Amino acid sequence: MTYVEEVYAKLEKENPNEKEFLQAAKEILFSLQPVFDKHPEYQKAALLERFVEPERIIMFRVPWVDDNGVVQVNKGYRVQFNSAIGPYKGGLRFHPSVNLSILKFLGLEQILKNSLTTLPIGGGKGGSNFNPKGKSDAEVMRFCQSFMTELSRHIGADVDVPAGDIGVGGREIGYLFGQYKRLRDEYTGVLTGKGLTYGGSLGRKEATGYGLLFFVREMLEYNGKKTNGNVAVISGSGNVAIYACEKATEMGMKVVAMSDSDGYIYDPNGINLDVVKDIKEVRRARISEYVKAVPTATYTVGCKGIWTIKCDIALPCATQNEIDEESAKILVKNGVFAVGEGANMPSTLEAIEVFRANKILFAPAKAANAGGVATSALEMSQNSMRLSWSKAEVFEKLSGIMKAIHANCAAACEKYGTGYDLVYGANIAGFEKVADAMMAQGIV
Ligand code: NDP
Repeated sequence: MTYVEEVYAKLEKENPNEKEFLQAAKEILFSLQPVFDKHPEYQKAALLERFVEPERIIMFRVPWVDDNGVVQVNKGYRVQFNSAIGPYKGGLRFHPSVNLSILKFLGLEQILKNSLTTLPIGGGKGGSNFNPKGKSDAEVMRFCQSFMTELSRHIGADVDVPAGDIGVGGREIGYLFGQYKRLRDEYTGVLTGKGLTYGGSLGRKEATGYGLLFFVREMLEYNGKKTNGNVAVISGSGNVAIYACEKATEMGMKVVAMSDSDGYIYDPNGINLDVVKDIKEVRRARISEYVKAVPTATYTVGCKGIWTIKCDIALPCATQNEIDEESAKILVKNGVFAVGEGANMPSTLEAIEVFRANKILFAPAKAANAGGVATSALEMSQNSMRLSWSKAEVFEKLSGIMKAIHANCAAACEKYGTGYDLVYGANIAGFEKVADAMMAQGIV
C-alpha cells in the first residue's frame, strides 16, 4: 500500500458517513502521489494525516423566533481546517442540505484553493441547515444575529474571516457584520463580501463568475482555442452563475441556458441577463419567471436536463455533484470541448474520468472559482490599509491572479510529468505551499 492509499483507507474507516468529504479527499489525495514520491520526509512527519484532519470544528445550536412567534432551532458550524499559511478563510453556506460532511469537503478544497490564489489565507468553511428561501427579511436577520452571537467568539480579522456561499449574499453578510460589531465593539474586516458603504470591495460580487471566465480563457488560449463564438450552458442563477454569464457574454460567447433548483430555461437567442438579474437579485423569484418576459424561451422542470443541451463549453455554477457520469457522457456526445467548474465539486469523480478519457479541457473548481476568495483577500487588504481600490484596479488584480493560478497549475503538471491535467496541477500547486509551511512549523 502506498502512503496515500494508507491515509485514505484510514479516512474512510473513520468517517464512513461523510461521502462528500471522502469524495473530495479521494480526488485530492490520489493526485498528490507524485509529490509524496519526491518527498518521503512528509510521511515521517505524518503530513497527510494532519492535512486531512481539521484543526478545529465548532458546532452550535442556533435558536431564533419566526414571524409567527414560533421558536425555531437550526444547527450552526464552523470548520477551521488549516491555518498553515494564514487565518482561516472560507464562506458560510445556509442551505437545508448542510451537514458536517459537506462543510468538511468544502473546507478541504478551500485550503488548496486559497493557497493557489498566492495570498496568505488558510482554509475554513461554515454554515447552517437554515433555509433562507421563503423567509422574511426580519426572519433572516434574527437568524443571522443568533448565528453570529455564537460564531463571534471564534472568528476575527486575524483569526478567521468568513464570507458568503450558497444562501449567504449581501443581505446576510450585512446582518452578520452588524451583530459582530455590536457584540465585539470593533470595526474590523471580520467578514468579506460586505456592502460598499461599510468596507466591502468593489468587484467582489462579480469576482467568482468573472474569475471563472478569466481562468477558462487562459485554459483555452493555452490550448490554441478561442473564447468568442462558443455556445455555453451555465447551471444555477445565483451569484456565481449570473456573473459568469455576464463575463462569458462580454467575451463573445452565447449563453443559452441557466437554472435554479426547480428547473432550467433554454433561450436559443442568448440569455437576457437583465431579466435574470431582476428575477433573482431584485425579486428573489424563480427562474421559471423568465419565459414570461422572454416568450421565445422555454422552461423545463428539473435541473439535470440542462446538460442535455448542446454546447461547446459547460460551466456548472450551482452545487456539488450536479454533473454525473451520465450527464458527462451526454455533454461529450453533444460536442462539448471545455468544462469550467464555477461551483465547488460540481462534477462527480466518474464524470471527471469521462472528461479525461475524451480529452475535454477541464478547469477544476479549486483553481477556476478561486477568484471569489482572491477578491475577498483583496477586501481584507483594503480593510487593513483603510483604503479602497477602484473597480478597474480590482479586476486587473483579479485577472492577474487567475492568469497566475493557471500558469502555476500548468507548471506543476510539467514539474511532476502528469501531462496537461489541471486536476493534478491544481492539487499539487496548492498543496506544495501548504506542505512546506506545515513542515516548517513543526508538529502542530
Ligand atoms: P447562490 O446561493 O447565490 O446560488 C446558488 C444557485 O445554485 C441558485 O441558482 C440555486 O437555486 C442553485 N442551487 C443551489 N443548490 C442547488 C441544488 N441542490 N440543486 C440545484 N441547484 C441548486 O450561491 P453561489 O452562486 O454563491 O454559489 C454557487 C456555487 O459556487 C456553490 O457551489 C458555491 O460553493 C460555489 N462558490 C461560490 C463562491 C462565491 O463567491 N459566492 C466562491 C467559490 C465557489 P435555488 O435558488 O433554487 O436554490
